Amino acid sequence: MNKIAIIGCGNVGMSYAYALVNSKTNVDELVLIDVNKAKAEGEAMDLNHTLPYAPNKLKIYAGDYSDCANATIVCIAAGANQNPGETRMDLINKNSVIFKEIVTKVVNSGFNGIFLIATNQLDVMTYLTWRYSGFDYSRVIGSGTSLDTARLRYLIGDRLNINPKNVHAYVIGEHGDSEFVPWSNANIGGQNITNFIPREELDDICHEVRQSAYEIINRKGNTSYGIGISLVRITNAILDDENSIIAISTYDKDNDLFVGCPAIINRNGVSKKIYFNLNEDETNHLQKSIDIIKDAIRSLN
Ligand code: NAD
Repeated sequence: MNKIAIIGCGNVGMSYAYALVNSKTNVDELVLIDVNKAKAEGEAMDLNHTLPYAPNKLKIYAGDYSDCANATIVCIAAGANQNPGETRMDLINKNSVIFKEIVTKVVNSGFNGIFLIATNQLDVMTYLTWRYSGFDYSRVIGSGTSLDTARLRYLIGDRLNINPKNVHAYVIGEHGDSEFVPWSNANIGGQNITNFIPREELDDICHEVRQSAYEIINRKGNTSYGIGISLVRITNAILDDENSIIAISTYDKDNDLFVGCPAIINRNGVSKKIYFNLNEDETNHLQKSIDIIKDAIRSLN
């Protein structure tokens, strides 16, 4: 039995839930948990009304932390989101406080599955989940740069009129302002991407990816659909034991933190990180991004 528990039934949590109901997934049970119990109940009622027409058949209900005990995945999407002009890093003080409480309650339920983290700042919250849970790092996955990578592939696919699924390029580093694309490792149809798009234009695309959340938040107040599907993509890789490569936030032993990079995901969580051959410029860029996450974690201590 595959059971997903979602903690935090806001825009992100419910976009994930709605996408789960509407995608080809092997989920049997979905439990919604929120500090606002009535909200979780209302969302469960509303979602249940999709089932007569939805492709998936699953049991959906509002619950509490005891329902995490036999979950396969606990996804945490609870906490403050960015106001217009706010960076993801601006959220770490508020969200680190609630994470201690949430992760402790999940672990105390007897949960022994995989944590999937969506709350910002993403890399810091994923690190805190790992620390508070005491789980092996392979079982703590942050959505990391999966959404940013989707944004990148969409923009490149749109620019070249190529299916974005055939764009093999990744955003790595912090899920935030210092993330970047190691273009030396980006290819389409086996050719380096610079054979298709000039370098200056690629830098503009990377800038657009970084700015995406700000642009969306300025217009609609939050971002939700992209992260909802990104979480489903990671969920399927876990539930179907896919051994698929997805850009997520995972543990970096050298720096003792979590940071976005491609990794192989299967039923046990993260099975292996993929290390790129980065050029000097890219290596420096990644280190800068890592240092930003490191400083943020230090600031919490
Ligand atoms: P939201 O305000 O719509 O929802 C947050 C939910 O968390 C609310 O329902 C609230 O009641 C609940 N909550 C708050 N404290 C709680 C607690 N202690 N226990 C249980 N539930 C609690 O926010 P949102 O737009 O859904 O964003 C959620 C988080 O996801 C934010 O940090 C946001 O920045 C982040 N986010 C991440 C990505 C990504 O790529 N990882 C993308 C978009 C948003």
